[in-house]
Amino acid sequence: MIEFNLKDKVAVITGGAGVICSAMAKSLAAQGARTVILDLNKDAAVRVAAEIEKQYGITSLGLSANVLDKGSVEAVKKEVNEKLGPVDILVNGAGGNSPAATTKVEKMEGTEKPEDTFFGLQIEGFDRVFDLNFKGTLIPSMVFGTDMVKKRSGVIINISSMNSYRPLTKIAAYSAAKAAVNNFTQWLAVHFSKTGVRVNAIAPGFLLTNQNRFLLVDENTGESTPRGRKIINNTPMERYGTPDELTGTLLYLVSDLSKFVTGVVIPVDGGFSAYSGV
Ligand code: NAD
Repeated sequence: MIEFNLKDKVAVITGGAGVICSAMAKSLAAQGARTVILDLNKDAAVRVAAEIEKQYGITSLGLSANVLDKGSVEAVKKEVNEKLGPVDILVNGAGGNSPAATTKVEKMEGTEKPEDTFFGLQIEGFDRVFDLNFKGTLIPSMVFGTDMVKKRSGVIINISSMNSYRPLTKIAAYSAAKAAVNNFTQWLAVHFSKTGVRVNAIAPGFLLTNQNRFLLVDENTGESTPRGRKIINNTPMERYGTPDELTGTLLYLVSDLSKFVTGVVIPVDGGFSAYSGV
């Protein structure tokens, strides 16, 4: 009989101070895992770790690192290894989009100002978003995966998106990066398949969070934008999801309940990816 048990596992959650990943970290702590909140924002990481310790009475560290800077991630690994031991679980949650990599128009007519279209995308902004979502997944996997391969056991969870299956308009860099995350999830799963390390991904549907609020809610009126309404209309459950609704799939994927599962991307999306819109 396969058991569900995360007690004393060491779990590193990148972007762990954010909306989705702080909920994920809490769900792991609630099952007895010792969590490391790794985030660019040190104060927020320390705050989330303190909340976890208070709420669940279990060790949690809040540490600052940039997932795009291998040296800074290695420094965190060293500290984690000294304080908690080798890492068992990695959740690659740091990610996001930016207005700098977003076109103003959805579908080009050819008469718009070029800067509002594909032609106006700033390469620097594009690189920032692509790198954060893709290399920000690759680098921590490289750094923390070493512990797992050495122990011949471990789980890496990447956070993908609906954009990975079919791109959303406007956000070319984010879509391309999340598609690359899916591809990399499969690639690394195969590469690690004989080491005891599994690699899977969760593709959340639409949640209202800091990274997409500027696209989905009108700043001035607080009303849904036309884009926000389109999302709700295309989500069969007709609502946004909540971070807590991702945690069941996370707990399944990080535990032995999914022992024979590697290289999959599971949508948790209120039906969005299944719906043709008609
Ligand atoms: P969020 O902005 O609340 O959290 C992201 C966290 O990552 C922040 O705490 C931020 O400080 C941290 N971060 C940013 N750059 C970093 C870096 N270079 N190094 C380390 N940490 C860094 O975002 P969220 O909505 O909770 O998103 C979490 C993940 O879920 C992202 O990968 C996002 O793309 C994905 N996602 C979100 C949605 C959604 O609807 N919000 C949908 C699908 C996928």
